[in-house]
Amino acid sequence: MLISKGAVPHGMLFIGINGIGKRTTALALAKALNCTHSRNEEPGPEVYHTAIPCGICKQCKKIESGVHPDIYFLEPQGQFIKVDRIRDLIANLAMKPFEAEVRVVVISDAMAMNVQAQNALLKVLEEPPPRTIIILTATNTTDLLPTISSRCQQIQFAPLSKNFIEKKLCNDYGIDAKAAIIIAEIAEGSLDKAVLMAKKGWINFRDLVISGLEDAQEGSSGIRMSLALKLSAKRDTAVNALDVTASWLRDLMVIKYDPERITNKDWMERLERLSEKAEEKTILNGLEAVYETRKRIEGNANTRLAMEVFILKLFGQGWIK
Ligand SMILES: [Zn+2]
Repeated sequence: MLISKGAVPHGMLFIGINGIGKRTTALALAKALNCTHSRNEEPGPEVYHTAIPCGICKQCKKIESGVHPDIYFLEPQGQFIKVDRIRDLIANLAMKPFEAEVRVVVISDAMAMNVQAQNALLKVLEEPPPRTIIILTATNTTDLLPTISSRCQQIQFAPLSKNFIEKKLCNDYGIDAKAAIIIAEIAEGSLDKAVLMAKKGWINFRDLVISGLEDAQEGSSGIRMSLALKLSAKRDTAVNALDVTASWLRDLMVIKYDPERITNKDWMERLERLSEKAEEKTILNGLEAVYETRKRIEGNANTRLAMEVFILKLFGQGWIK
């Protein structure tokens, strides 16, 4: 463990999807580096720490409650982290830490920094101020300057296991066990996503979308258009409905070969029945339509129009054998 050797690098880059503990880990690291209970007082050129913070000393508590003057959190405001905020940060870092043994800067979604902001930050990474570590978190490194990522120790964060998410939802968020299993299946390893889904009554929404799709596939064009209308109430609704549709289509395909691996397990019987009638090629075309529509909506196309075209494409040409 880097930390117990007193060898924490000055720049770190945590990479992984949202909601898998990158920020939490950064926070734990900040505590571990500053916890006054876990400090080993042996004389030496470096102060060594154990990796587990106590959670109850003054330093740990201040960090936990977000009031520590030497722990900085930067995240995008709107879409970007602008250069002015990096400049302000640099001005602060030019001063000595107030009370921290090791000052910690966490820049969440670092890829939201524009090129100017990244270039400004680069100077700090090249000549890090004393007793300071900078942690960047990012979902990917494509939008980061290579000079930034190469100056950081990169640590890859894997998605969380379904089992872990399921237990968290039940134990910490009081979600009922059946719902937790399904949400854990769909959250793609992200606890944030899972919790948000649970809070927003996602299971009900999914049921609504899937029964709507079932009705539409055998219904009139009037029924199909009213579904399109319902699913395009808001941009978010449409995007979420597309996610559900993708999982439903994938299940219709997967259930043909490996029923155990479907996502919407509580819909198993109905999926089986429908899957027998649905052609593979049509399912694949449907999936393609989902991705196309998603792109259009994210590119600010008219949501209602995009969803109408989508439903027409999905069921338009003799969906069922
Ligand atoms: Zn402590």
